[in-house]
Amino acid sequence: MHNANEIRSTPCPECKICGSPGIPTYKDLPDRLFSSPGLWNLSKCSNSECGLMWLDPMPLEEDIYKAYRSYYTHGDKSGGTPSLEARITKALVPIFQLFMRLTPIHRERVDIEQMFLGNIVPGRVLEVGCGDGTMLSRLADLGWSVEGQEVDPISATIAAKANITIHLGSLVSLNLPEASYDAIVMNHVIEHVHDPVKLLAECQRLLKPGGILVAVTPNIRSFAHRAFHSNWRDLDPPRHVMIHCRNSLHPVAEKAGFASIKIRTVSAKASSIYRSLQLKYENKYPKVPMIALCYAGTLLFMVLAWLAQRKDPDSGEECLMILKKLV
Ligand SMILES: [Zn+2]
Repeated sequence: MHNANEIRSTPCPECKICGSPGIPTYKDLPDRLFSSPGLWNLSKCSNSECGLMWLDPMPLEEDIYKAYRSYYTHGDKSGGTPSLEARITKALVPIFQLFMRLTPIHRERVDIEQMFLGNIVPGRVLEVGCGDGTMLSRLADLGWSVEGQEVDPISATIAAKANITIHLGSLVSLNLPEASYDAIVMNHVIEHVHDPVKLLAECQRLLKPGGILVAVTPNIRSFAHRAFHSNWRDLDPPRHVMIHCRNSLHPVAEKAGFASIKIRTVSAKASSIYRSLQLKYENKYPKVPMIALCYAGTLLFMVLAWLAQRKDPDSGEECLMILKKLV
């Protein structure tokens, strides 16, 4: 009998995208963000045309829910006295945002916060892995008729409180009616799934002819990963089972049957860099100055990442896929 909290795993020596052998890259990484049990190894695909990174051994699909027991989408955002940290963060965020508006990254941040749906005629949109519904509320404000899918009942309850229609269960098992949506969005979902082709193929089925899928996922080739290595927040073991780059995503989109495939990288988001700085320097400085330093560091780092991406277009912090179903 195994320990009930243990996340069981299975060896995964070969790349699930191209079949090439993996090169062991990180060893014995704990879950530093949400403290689930286990130590995890990551391997990188030996095929330079692919570049995927994955967990080897890989958590069993039926056990992975154990890695989400204290996940942040479960946080109750109301009630209780906020901590000193929370109050300082609240004061610093508007300053950070003001400075951010002065950078050339601002426009792209607005686009990504609307999942690039801001400039097209609103219709019916489904968000896969909608969490507490924050993104869908934003899209509803733009005129979209919104629905969400979520596997986690706690997040789904929070989203349902905001009057958003939620489909509870895995997307494939829900078997929603085909050709139902003008757009499907996925924000940081693909890296969590064991079979990305199956997920994207289901999205393709659910889209109306001419409909688009917009998906954002961390980029393993990012400037921040190269800078922070094992402290890079988006390694996130054991929740991120596969971490992609532009090259590894292309065959996934192709096998899923999309007619038009556009994949590029973007450097617009800060969350990963902020958390990476915290992971690198935690316990080295007192908490309160650390918060201010992390915000200042994030701002500086994002501008550097943006500049780096001008030189190397593949080095953005996230991969952005815009996939279209044939009309
Ligand atoms: Zn590969």
